[in-house]
Amino acid sequence: MSKILNVSKLRKTYQSGSGTLTVLDDITFSLESGETFAIVGPSGSGKTTLLGLCAGLDRPDSGTIELCGVEIDTLDEDKRALLRNRKVGFIFQDFQLLPTLTAMENVAVPLELQGVKNAQSRAVTLLEKVGLGARVHHYPSQLSGGEQQRVALARAFSNTPEILFADEPTGELDEETGQKIIELLFDLNKEAGTTLVIITHDMDLARKTQRILRLKGGKIHREEKVEVQ
Ligand code: ADP
Repeated sequence: MSKILNVSKLRKTYQSGSGTLTVLDDITFSLESGETFAIVGPSGSGKTTLLGLCAGLDRPDSGTIELCGVEIDTLDEDKRALLRNRKVGFIFQDFQLLPTLTAMENVAVPLELQGVKNAQSRAVTLLEKVGLGARVHHYPSQLSGGEQQRVALARAFSNTPEILFADEPTGELDEETGQKIIELLFDLNKEAGTTLVIITHDMDLARKTQRILRLKGGKIHREEKVEVQ
């Protein structure tokens, strides 16, 4: 197995009115390709910030991040964007669908921007896979939260990412819909070997992964291997 993510001595601060807020401090861990990994911890412990850094959406104050064999913390914006487009998928807490595009367009447009041929038919196939074959021409406002999350999932799956970062992928969903989303995520891991990094408050979901990183106050509180049941 090879390392797909290698994080060393990460530190991240934000400036606020009352001074410097240290959000992450001395974070070191690594992930093997194909692993499933959960990040848990109380609100405000730095989970979303850590995900953004690992995915190259933000930069640390110090420390290094190697993603898919590339040191991303020193990479310029264009190269980071290229790496993300080719190898990384995201599922955000608030889905981040474009409201003026249909479900199909939300999936197809990023593919078209990457020069993928037959982007629209590929988008329809992906939407069918997540159970939205009858909703391809609907706009996000015409879809339920669970359906919007499935569009976000189809978009994240569209480039068969090597690693997928998901921030509370089931947070806003009812239990049944949440279960379906989780199944789809783990199917992608099994079928395509995509590494999963999932932020969650749901310990049942966390225990479905192979390893759990627990953050507390911006530091690693504990890292544990999940026993296979
Ligand atoms: P979690 O995901 O565990 O809830 P976050 O990473 O979202 O934690 O936030 C960690 C801390 O960083 C919180 O105190 C939050 O208010 C602060 N924070 C997050 N983003 C910013 C920002 N852009 N500017 C200032 N403070 C921020």
